[in-house]
Amino acid sequence: MATENTPAFNKVLYAPLAEIDPVVKNIIDKETWRQFSGIELIASENLTSLAVMEANGSVLTNKYSEGLPGARYYGGNEYIDELEVLCRKRALQAFNLDPEKWGVNVQPYSGSHFSFAVLTALIQPQDRLMGLGLPDGGHLTHGYYTAKKKMTASSIYFQSLPYGLDPSTQLIDYVGLRKQAKTFKPRLIICGASAYPRDWDYKTLRAICDSEGAYLMADIAHTSGLVAAQQLNSPFDYCDVVTTTTHKTLRGARGGLIFFRKDGANYEDLEKRVNDAVFPACQGGPHNNTIAAVATALLQVSQPEYKEYARQVIANARTLGSALLEYGYRLQTGGTDNHLVLWDLRPLGLTGSKVEKVCDLLGITINKNAVSGDASAQTPGGIRLGTSALTSRDMKEEDIKVVASFLHRAVQLSILLQKEAGTKMLKDFVRVATTETEGKVGAKMVKELRQEVVGFARKWPLPGVDVTRLQRPAGIEEDF
Ligand SMILES: *Cc1c(COP(=O)(O)O)cnc(C)c1O
Repeated sequence: MATENTPAFNKVLYAPLAEIDPVVKNIIDKETWRQFSGIELIASENLTSLAVMEANGSVLTNKYSEGLPGARYYGGNEYIDELEVLCRKRALQAFNLDPEKWGVNVQPYSGSHFSFAVLTALIQPQDRLMGLGLPDGGHLTHGYYTAKKKMTASSIYFQSLPYGLDPSTQLIDYVGLRKQAKTFKPRLIICGASAYPRDWDYKTLRAICDSEGAYLMADIAHTSGLVAAQQLNSPFDYCDVVTTTTHKTLRGARGGLIFFRKDGANYEDLEKRVNDAVFPACQGGPHNNTIAAVATALLQVSQPEYKEYARQVIANARTLGSALLEYGYRLQTGGTDNHLVLWDLRPLGLTGSKVEKVCDLLGITINKNAVSGDASAQTPGGIRLGTSALTSRDMKEEDIKVVASFLHRAVQLSILLQKEAGTKMLKDFVRVATTETEGKVGAKMVKELRQEVVGFARKWPLPGVDVTRLQRPAGIEEDF
C-alpha cells in the first residue's frame, strides 16, 4: 500500500487496474465474457489455471536475469535461480526424462523463438532442412516458403524443402520423405505439426536421419500434453532435440521449452550450443513470470489427474470425429488419434473461411485450415477443431455430441447462406448472414442458433474465473 509519504507520482503504483485504466480493464472483461459465452474449438488454444495466471501476473516480471542459473549478468538472482532450476526439474519430470540423458532450456519466449534458437544451435546459415509443408499441417517455422516469398526465418536464412502427405491416406508420406532426403541431403529434419490428426513414426524418421547424417527435431507444440501423459508415441526415444510451446495441450502460460540430449559422444556440446543459441544469440532477459507460470503448469502436468485430462481430450476429439462422420461429413485421415480433427468441407461446396465466419457469428471459435489437395493456399477447404479447451471446461463425450450438432447446423446454415447470397463472395455471404432481409431466413437463423450456442456455453465454468459473479460488460450488446 502507499504510505502518507508516497509522492503523487508514485500513487499510481498501488491502484487497481479498474481504477487506473478502465479502458484496458473493460477489454479484459469483454474478452472474459467472450470466453465464457463461446464454444472454444481452436486446436492450439487451451484454458490455463488460476494458479498459473497468478504466477504469470507476479512481481517476477520485474527481474532481469540474463544468463543461466549460477551464471547471470545481474545480481539479486538467488530466487530466480531457484525458480529456473525448479522449472527445469519439473519439465524433465513431466516428460519422464532422465536428467543424465536429457537437459532442457526453459527460457524461450514462445514457439517461434525456440525454432530459430534450435536452428542456430544445430546447423549453419544456408544449411538445408526439411519440415512438413504448411498446407499439409506443418508450422510456418518449419521452413515454409511460397513461390513469391520466403515466409519465416527458417526459409530466409536456411534452404528448406517440405515433405508432405500421401494423398490417398493423408498420412505422412515417409517413403516420399526418404527419397527426398536422399537427394536433398538435409542437415536437419523437423517433425511435428500444427494440423495433423495422427501420431508420428519417430523410429522411421530416425532411420532416415541416420542414413543421411541429419539431426532429428520434434516440435511437439500441439501434442506435448498428450505426450507427457503418455497417450501418444514419445519423440524422446529417437530425437536429438524436442521442442514445445507450453500453452496448447500442456495447458500452461504462453512460453516455450527446448529439450536436448546429453548422453553420448554426439551430444557433448549440444547443451552449450542450445543454451548459447537461446541467449545471447536469439533472446535477451528471460521472462521470469512466465517461467514461474510454466513451472506451476508442469507441476500440474505431473499429477495423475492430468493423465485423466489428456485421456478425456482424446476421447472428446474421437467423439467429435465420429459424430461428424455419422452426419456424413468427410474428415482428413477419416478420424483422429490426438486432440484435433480436420474437417474437409470441399464436398459441400464450402470454404473454410465462410464456415469460420459463420461460426464466429454463432459464438463457436474455430479456424479455417488447408486440407490435403487444396487447389490454392489462399482459400483453405477445411477447418481445424480441437477439444483441449472444452475439456478444460469439464465437457465429456455426451456434451461434445451437442457441440457436434451445433457444428452440423452451422455448416448446413452456411450452405443456405451461400445460396441466399447468390454469389460466392465472402462479403455477400457475410451480408446475408448479418442483415435480416425480406424473403430470406439465413440471418434470423444465425441469431437463433447463436442464442442456443451461448446458452449452452454459459452453463460451463471457466478456469480461473468465478463465473457466478460475471456480468455482461459495457460495450457488448445482446438482444436476448
Ligand atoms: C504453435 C506452434 C508453434 C509456435 O508457437 P508461437 O508461440 O505461436 O510462436 C511452433 N511450432 C508448432 C508446431 C506449433 O504448432
